[in-house]
Formats: sequence, C-alpha cells, structure tokens
Amino acid sequence: MTRTALFPKTAPSPKTAPQPGFRADLVEELCLGLDRWAAQFNANWQEDDRAGTLSQARWLAVCEAGLTGLTVPEDFGGLGLSAAELAQVLEHFGTISEDSGLGFTLATHLCSTCIPVARFGSPAMKAALLPALAAGDRVGAHAITEPDSGSDAFAMRSRALPHATGYTLSGEKCYISSAPLADVIVVYARTDAEKGALGGFSALAVDRGLPGVSVGRSRSKMGLRSAPMADLHFDAVEVPGAALIGREGQGFSILDYVMKWEILCVFALQLGEMRRQLRQCLTWAKTRQQFGQAIGGYQAVSHRIADMHMRLEGAANWLARAVRAMEGGGRASLEIAAAKLAISEANVANSLDAVLLHGGAGYMSDTGIEAGLRNAVGGLIYSGTSDIQRNRIAAMLGL
Ligand SMILES: Cc1cc2nc3c(=O)[nH]c(=O)nc-3n(C[C@H](O)[C@H](O)[C@H](O)COP(=O)(O)OP(=O)(O)OC[C@H]3O[C@@H](n4cnc5c(N)ncnc54)[C@H](O)[C@@H]3O)c2cc1C
Repeated sequence: MTRTALFPKTAPSPKTAPQPGFRADLVEELCLGLDRWAAQFNANWQEDDRAGTLSQARWLAVCEAGLTGLTVPEDFGGLGLSAAELAQVLEHFGTISEDSGLGFTLATHLCSTCIPVARFGSPAMKAALLPALAAGDRVGAHAITEPDSGSDAFAMRSRALPHATGYTLSGEKCYISSAPLADVIVVYARTDAEKGALGGFSALAVDRGLPGVSVGRSRSKMGLRSAPMADLHFDAVEVPGAALIGREGQGFSILDYVMKWEILCVFALQLGEMRRQLRQCLTWAKTRQQFGQAIGGYQAVSHRIADMHMRLEGAANWLARAVRAMEGGGRASLEIAAAKLAISEANVANSLDAVLLHGGAGYMSDTGIEAGLRNAVGGLIYSGTSDIQRNRIAAMLGL
C-alpha cells in the first residue's frame, strides 16, 4: 500500500515531515504495522468505555505493537522517535483507534515517565527502567496535581525531605491518569522549603510498590473513561536517592520539558481522531437521505463539514509549527501553547458538529459519535487549561 492510500485526502500537513534526519521509511513502516493491529486496539472498546475500564487485552496489543517504546532511545529497546516522527505515528494511531482512552493511556506512559527518564535520568536509572518501560512490562504515570494546586501547580504541598540515603515523601495527588495500573510514578514534590518554583521542587521516579504508597479508588469520568485514573497518597514513603530524576531542584524545568512532549503526543492523537471523525461525517452526509436526497446536498450540512475541515487543518498547522519549533531546539513555548489551545478547542467544536450532523444517531451511545464529544472536553482541562494557555500566549506577546 502506498503512503497516499494510507492517508487519503486528509493527510497530515507535509510541513511536519521534511526535517533533516526524518526517517520517512520507518514512520511509514510503523503506520502500516499499526493498521494490522486495528482490530485488537478496537476490540469491544465501547464495553470498556461503558464500564470505565481498560481491558488488559487492548493494552497488551499496544505493548506488542511496539507503541510503548516510541519515545525510548534505541539503546534501551525503544525507537527513539523525534518529535516529527512521533507526531506522525501518533496521529496515524488516532485515525485507526476508535477509543481516545487507549491513546491517552499510551501518551501518559510515553510522556510521564519514558521522556523524563530518557532525557534527565542517570545512566543507572535508564538501564533499570527504560527497557521495561519500552516493552510495556512496566507502566508509567506522573503526579503533579493536588487538591489545592491544579493550574497553580507549584503551589503543591507534597514534600520530599532529603536525607543521607534519599527522600521521605509525603503528600496527596489527585486526578492521576494511569495511577491504577502504573508501576512507576514520576512524583513532583518540594525538596527545598526556602526556594520557589525554580530550585525548590524535584522529580522522583517512585516505585508504586514502596511502603506508604497507596492508590485511591478509580475515578469515574465524563470522558476518556477507559483511561484509568485515581488519586494517590504518599505516607512518609522512603524513596532511594537513586530515584531522583536529573538534579535536586530541577523539577520545574523537567516538568516544562515533559509538558511539551505531552501536548505533542496527546494532541497529535487528537488530530488523528478528528480526521477519522471527519471521514465518518462525510460518509454520513453522502449516504443519509432526508426529503428525498442525501443531507450533504443541504448547505447547512455541507457548510458544517467545511467548517470542521477548516478547524482541523488550522489545528494541524499549529501542531506542525510546534513540531518545527521543538525540532529547531528553541523553547517552543508559544507554539506549544497555541497548538494545545487550537487542537483542543477545534476537537470540542468538531465533536459537537459530528453529533449534530448525525442527528439522533449521533446522540446514541452505540454509534460511538457522542463519545468523541465527551472525550474532547477533557482536552480543555488537562496539560494546562485553555485559560492558562491563553495567559501564556498573552504573556509571550508581552502582556
Ligand atoms: C482527563 C484528565 C487527566 C488528568 N491527568 C493528570 C495526570 O496524569 N497527572 C496530574 O498530575 N494531573 C492530571 N490531571 C489534572 C489536571 O492537570 C488539572 O485538572 C488541571 O491542571 C486544572 O487544575 P484544577 O482541576 O485544579 O483546576 P483549577 O486550577 O482550580 O482551575 C479551575 C478554573 O479556573 C481557571 N483558572 C485557574 N487559574 C487561572 C488563571 N490564573 N487565569 C485564568 N483562569 C484560571 C481554570 O482555567 C479553570 O477554568 C488530569 C485532569 C484531567 C481532566
């Protein structure tokens, strides 16, 4: 199958691809490989969505397809994809996986743990963690949010008190994606009470099996229902010094780095999901007959589809700019904030249009259309709310 056949009409913007060193053959091979796993990724996904669980078989399919190693360097059993390569592979995954919760769990694994350990971890930490993370034998999560600190993340109260052999970690974390299945949790906590966001916080790769780590009951959510979530409690957990990621006090810059990759991964997936949704809407508009003709012949319907296309391609252009900025080695802060805002808001608007365009069928759970809207709303909140992204953009414009 040719690449053109793989990505008919709604192909990712070519601007994401031609970076020096971009491994087009590898990306194409990965995408073709993923197509062969579609049935396993999607098996009974609506049952998982209804039950608020992720079946082990579907997660194992993700691991066996090699997706858990996408951001792990090749020396440690992964593929070490660049930002541009990763964006294309995940966007393609989004076009074939019908369940956003599965992709969200994958992105959480790749970004929460694989990314910071690979970039900032000591050689010993990389050797100990990365091969198992790449294979999916161990699952990663990260814990930043607390009951009294969400958008204002560095108002967190969790403390990791340094001592001769490591840290004593105490605190509460909430809304932690993948907490019910994670083996390694990157916990952000204050290590120096005298310092602020810069220098006062550190990131620790905490083994979930350590005494004093407890996982709360699974959270029930509006969307992304198959992506497991729970709160975490750390009761004087003795964390070895070897679990420190990077340097003590580097938590702020590690989180800043991680969030860029998280936005890249989660929102590349969303672009793919929006492409699949638009194809579905086009098919419906061409086949659903009312008043003796296909509804796509009515301007109200065709303009709705044109608007969906414009939002999708506008969002794709923002992601392409963010990828280019990341690959250019700059901070990419404005482009990342803009991409997150543009894609998440386009996804909500398009998902509502998809429901309306399908009429009653769009509102029914069994068609899977309404799940798109429920899943999209979360994107306005996690990884920094829309308000926070607007604040960032305005600040970078000098306000
Ligand atoms: C699906 C999902 C998955 C998540 N996964 C994780 C995870 O894996 N790990 C983790 O640590 N956390 C996770 N979170 C938590 C998420 O990061 C927080 O919910 C988010 O940062 C917002 O924090 P909050 O909920 O405390 O809202 P708040 O910060 O209390 O915000 C409430 C409202 O006030 C607005 N607001 C706040 N401050 C400002 C401001 N300065 N200017 C303008 N408006 C403002 C916000 O935009 C929002 O509308 C997840 C959340 C969701 C929904």
